[in-house]
Parts: sequence; structure tokens; C-alpha cells
Amino acid sequence: MTEQPARRLLLVHAHPDDESINNGATMAKYAAEGARVTVVTCTLGEEGEVIPPSLAHLTADRENALGAHRIGELAAAMKELGVADHRFLGGTGRYRDSGMMGLEQNHRSGAFWAADVDEAAAHLVEVIREVRPQVLVTYDPDGGYGHPDHIQAHRVAMRAADLAAEPAFRADLGEPHTVAKVYWNRAPRSVVEERFRWLAGVLGESPFTAAATVADVPGVTDDERVTAEIDGRDFGAAKAAAMRAHATQIEVSGPLFALSNGLAQPIFDVEYYELVRGGAGAVRGVRETDLFAGIDAAGAAGPGTTATEGGK
Ligand SMILES: [Zn+2]
Repeated sequence: MTEQPARRLLLVHAHPDDESINNGATMAKYAAEGARVTVVTCTLGEEGEVIPPSLAHLTADRENALGAHRIGELAAAMKELGVADHRFLGGTGRYRDSGMMGLEQNHRSGAFWAADVDEAAAHLVEVIREVRPQVLVTYDPDGGYGHPDHIQAHRVAMRAADLAAEPAFRADLGEPHTVAKVYWNRAPRSVVEERFRWLAGVLGESPFTAAATVADVPGVTDDERVTAEIDGRDFGAAKAAAMRAHATQIEVSGPLFALSNGLAQPIFDVEYYELVRGGAGAVRGVRETDLFAGIDAAGAAGPGTTATEGGK
């Protein structure tokens, strides 16, 4: 086996831009510390809207060229974060963006939402068995905010974590590997509310005319469900630069950003997680400050894994 960095973090996301919005600071921090950071993106985000008028021709209902364009945006974002290992699930373009819930294109052949979960998970098993991450990060069962591709990314990631450890599953995909810890992206409600109160005071100095609300932030949950917080304040600039690289999707201005709806949101450079598998390092009521906490050199989560088998 080739020599690997000691700490290995795998993140599974639905579309290009989700990784930078959710985990940009975390990824930049761990990459800077020498960890191997691997991002798997499940679709090219072909159905997205486009913010800059000069690129409006790329959308699915016009040239249908947004997916190819977003490959470049993602590559630029990864460079800003120092992440060298980035892949698309099953290869580039294997699964297509499904669009928002209830749309007819959800059910098109090739749409990620229409994919068989086990079949899609097998592609991720191959990555897990190669990279052998101790830590996996993905969305909660609602995908953070109910988008079909985000829900499906959650299902595929959780299924793949199970299957990768299963010796009887697809020996052709590599040696079995147990991911020691699994986290879901989260945001504690009190923190988000506080940040939006702050945002209301600075909105007038920004180019944005209106603010989003707490409900627009994915993964918001009761504070006590949040078990880890990663202080990425040293990497806030890298996160903002990565978000800015997704220019068709995100407008960044100082500490604020907006998606295609134009509504201002705060950029979080402290990022939050809920540990749902592997309890080593987690002490009830005290948030972890390192996703690798409690993991020994052999990559096991150690004994006493009692923390938070999160509600599904
Ligand atoms: Zn997304």
C-alpha cells in the first residue's frame, strides 16, 4: 500500500459549492495540518441557477453547460482550500443533479435522486477502501434542508460506510475498512440566530439588499445535538476565496454571502458537527474541537464508544 498521511478525512457532498459552504474552513485547516482531505461530490450541479448575467447562457434550460463549468469552479475552490484529492462519485458526470424536490427531472434516468442507493454506495466504497479515512462527514437524513440530492448523498454515504466494512461485500473493491467516526454537518440554533442578529446590523454596508433567515441555513439544530466545533477562523479567508470560486452559485462580500436568491447570509468560519458513529473523544456536554479526537494510530475509535448514536 502507498504511504498515506496519518489522518484522513472524507467528505461527501451533493453539488460543487456545498463543500466550501459547509466545510471550507475545516478542510483548509486539516489540509494545512497535513491530513489527507478527500472530497467526493455526487453530481456536477447541472440544474443550478446562475448568478452572473454573463454566464446565464450555461443553465440547463439554455446551453445545458453548467455542469462542465462547475467542474472548473470546484477545482479552483479546492486549490484555495489546499485540497488535492477531489473526485466525482462514480466518475465525472456519472450522476446528474436532480433539481429541487418535486421537479420532473428528479426521476430522469441518471438523476442522482433516481439512483439505486446500493449501486451508488459501491462507488463510494471503492474510495473508502482506497483512502481508508478515519472520519467521514456528510449531511443529516434531511440533507440539511431537504434537497433530494443532499438527502441521497446522506443515504449513499451512510450506506457506503456500512458496506466498506463488510468483508463479504465486493472484495474486488478493496480490503474492508471501518470508518471510525461519522459526522453530520450541523449548525447550533443559538449561534445561527446570534449571527443573523449581527448580520441585520451590517447589512446596510453590504451590496445585499435583504437578509436570509435562520431557516435558510442547512443543518440548523438544537445546540445540545452539536457535538463538535472546528475553529477555522485562521482559514476564514481561504473559505471565502473557495466560496468565491463558485462564482455561478455564490456572491461573496466581506463576511457575507448570497446564493442565487440574493439573500445575505453570514459566512461561518467556525463549523459545527454532530457525531453519529464512534464515540471516542466525545464527552457528554463538551464539544470536541478535533474531528480526529480519540482516534488511535491504528485508526480505531477506541473503547467506550457511547456518545451519540444520532436519531435517524
Ligand atoms: Zn447542494
